[in-house]
Amino acid sequence: MSEPSKPQGRKFQLPEHLKVYKNVWVIVEQERGIVHSVSLELLGEARKLADKLGVEVGAVVLGAESPDLNRICGDAIGYGADIVYKVTDPALADYRTDPYCRVMTDVVNTHKPEIVLLGATTLGRDLAGAIATTLATGLTADCTELDIYADNRSLAATRPTFGGTLLCTIQTLAYRPQMATVRPRVMAMPERDDTRTGRVIEIQPDLREEDIVTKVLNFIADREQNEAQLAFADIIVSAGKGLGKVENMKLVFDLAKVLGAEVGVTRPLVQAGWATNDRQVGQTGKTVRPKLYIAAGISGAIQHRVGMEKSDLILAINTDPNATIFDFAHLGLVGDALKILPALTDAFGRRLS
Ligand code: FAD
Repeated sequence: MSEPSKPQGRKFQLPEHLKVYKNVWVIVEQERGIVHSVSLELLGEARKLADKLGVEVGAVVLGAESPDLNRICGDAIGYGADIVYKVTDPALADYRTDPYCRVMTDVVNTHKPEIVLLGATTLGRDLAGAIATTLATGLTADCTELDIYADNRSLAATRPTFGGTLLCTIQTLAYRPQMATVRPRVMAMPERDDTRTGRVIEIQPDLREEDIVTKVLNFIADREQNEAQLAFADIIVSAGKGLGKVENMKLVFDLAKVLGAEVGVTRPLVQAGWATNDRQVGQTGKTVRPKLYIAAGISGAIQHRVGMEKSDLILAINTDPNATIFDFAHLGLVGDALKILPALTDAFGRRLS
């Protein structure tokens, strides 16, 4: 895969009435006082974009008034925001598309940010689409890279296309704000800086519960207790079709156990029923960023690569010296994973015990 080319936007001049749009915003995703880590990652990214544009970073924190919400506003400043728009109403206690979208479009129309970023989570995808449609502006979903195109100051939002075989860079030239969603773990987590200061703008929208057709009857956390936590694992041992048969998955789990790692897989293994889809890494699975990613019997197809290529260290084990994975792995072992995995388990087991 070649590197994405520099964005080549047309020399488009922004219409005069859109030049008042300024600042880079992140809509901070929080549920019951717990902030989704992707929002903090996006604050780090927003900081870089805002510094290039010479503007400020805004964080929008929505919810019912609570000490948790005040803590989250402080967190947003620590992670890079200059201004926090704290939007409170009892009707915003739990996420619902209608009131969140209504409030967000009002806040955007009043304060006019030039860029609005959200996590590509279930909530973020829903809200981003609703806001972009209501405001009739452009949204680029599932971005893997964000940059500023210097010629016209527009957001250059890069994302996989054609089933992941190409990367394309999209610009929203004639509309504001420019919107983008980014999957968790695609951007690096910034360092929190407790010395940072910022302003909090309190907004109390005019919402009436009786005007909202959806009602929250119950709250069920979306994360199953026993679901694989790939996104936050420091070490992942991943298996591909080269493992040959489902019984050989034990070799992968054995090594993962010794290393305190999570187990990942390629899509064909999920399709074959060797593993559940919470373990799938790649374009239609999870994006991961571990310190060490061991890929055993994996060819390195682009759809797998986009989910793991930002790992700090990739060790590939493959019998084929010409396998694509060796093009981007940091370390490669040409050999039979069925022999190498037990040898690694044995060696690490002795070293770490
Ligand atoms: P293969 O490509 O068959 O590779 C097996 C590798 O194992 C080969 O390189 C072989 O040399 C090696 N091997 C064989 N025997 C051994 C041995 N004994 N020891 C060591 N090595 C051995 N895939 C994903 O993973 N994640 C996704 O999210 C994803 N999304 C997709 C979305 C779309 C729209 C499409 C079209 C495809 C998607 N795919 C995805 C599938 C992807 O294109 C590849 O088919 C898949 O990643 C290949 O899986 P693999 O590497 O396990 O198998």
